Amino acid sequence: MNLTDRDKKYIWHPYTQHKTVALPIAIKRGEGALLWDENDKEYIDAIASWWVNPFGHSNKFIADAIYKQLTTLEHVLFGGFTHEPAVVLAEKLMETLPKNQQKIFFSDNGSTAVEVAIKVALQYFFNKGEKKTTIIAFENAFHGDTFAAMAASGISFYTQAFQGMFIDVVRIPVPTKGNEEASYSALREAIKNNNCAGFIFEPLVQGAAGMVMYEPESLDELIRICKKNNVLTIADEVMTGFGKTGKTFACNYLTEKPDMMCLSKALTGGTIPMAITTFTSAIFEAFYDEDINKALFHGHTFTANPTGCAAALASLELLQTNEMQGNIARINQRHLAFQKYIESHPKVTTTRVLGVIFALEIKTKNQASYYGTLRNKLYDFFIENGVILRPVGNVVYILPPYIMTDMQLQKVYEVVENALEIV
Ligand SMILES: *Cc1c(COP(=O)(O)O)cnc(C)c1O
Repeated sequence: MNLTDRDKKYIWHPYTQHKTVALPIAIKRGEGALLWDENDKEYIDAIASWWVNPFGHSNKFIADAIYKQLTTLEHVLFGGFTHEPAVVLAEKLMETLPKNQQKIFFSDNGSTAVEVAIKVALQYFFNKGEKKTTIIAFENAFHGDTFAAMAASGISFYTQAFQGMFIDVVRIPVPTKGNEEASYSALREAIKNNNCAGFIFEPLVQGAAGMVMYEPESLDELIRICKKNNVLTIADEVMTGFGKTGKTFACNYLTEKPDMMCLSKALTGGTIPMAITTFTSAIFEAFYDEDINKALFHGHTFTANPTGCAAALASLELLQTNEMQGNIARINQRHLAFQKYIESHPKVTTTRVLGVIFALEIKTKNQASYYGTLRNKLYDFFIENGVILRPVGNVVYILPPYIMTDMQLQKVYEVVENALEIV
């Protein structure tokens, strides 16, 4: 039996209705932007395996760093202990993060990074003896699948079974072009009518919503409104972090600075699950006390796993090379050229580009649903043509590993253009 059939017997896949969906493709090998399945069919990974892999599959530089760490100190508990990879990673991150970020807390994935940020926002006010229990989030936000992260997420597809079981969240419109004032006034209203502890947002690009983009100036204004009203701001950079927007962090486009940041996905170059939540000293100080009850009683068994830290350090080093920065700029230029070429196509309603992220919306009669017929037809077409793209409703986006070659990128563009003919 092949892997695909053996998989079926015991395995439950994420975001999958097993009764109706096709069997998964068994991938045996990856190198650079390419993957090969068990029948040796080749695929271009045009979404960096869910946005985690900027430097290519089976990257030797990161693999060597991981091997070295595994054979020196693979893991040690982080309660009461520390180690060099964690300390050096913290120091290196401080050189790249916005200057107000002064403390880092480790966890395992994007959802836990968000979970930590939301818990910290709530306990921050608890520790100060203030009752603030509401979180503000954007419409169609995605912050992960654990409970607080789900509460903050606004895509009903993911959360409808759990409505009524969440912490209090007020939702405001995203300040996309033309909606800026509506977004600002909704935020002011939310703060006036609720005891808001924090505002969580995906800075500049809402990934899971279909690469919805908005301007730094609008986010600056929203952060200013929060600052004036003593509401903590949480930038969820799980998707946008580590170069995707053209700068190391999307927050680098801002004049204002968030109080907390959530990092994961590309943090370890797509190798080992790890996440980090970062904080200002003012936040840390609200937990720093002789009273043990003011401490943050949150942790995970594999917190700050040394091997994960070593992978993150190697990834950060790769990201900062001139070669990788050049790749990011190159892909951005190619995207802009393709945008110019495709934007007037009769089946395209709108296109957008930021950094290595490209998205186009396909004209549809009715609103396309998240995992609807159009989406499935497109997905199957891309797979048939050896390109991994996961459209969101009627949005087709490309988020390639930075090392993708011009030729591979050209093939992705061609397949996207051809897909417009089948819809
Ligand atoms: C993917 C994602 C998450 C969740 O991360 P997981 O590692 O899947 O738990 C949270 N926030 C954003 C913005 C994401 O894109």
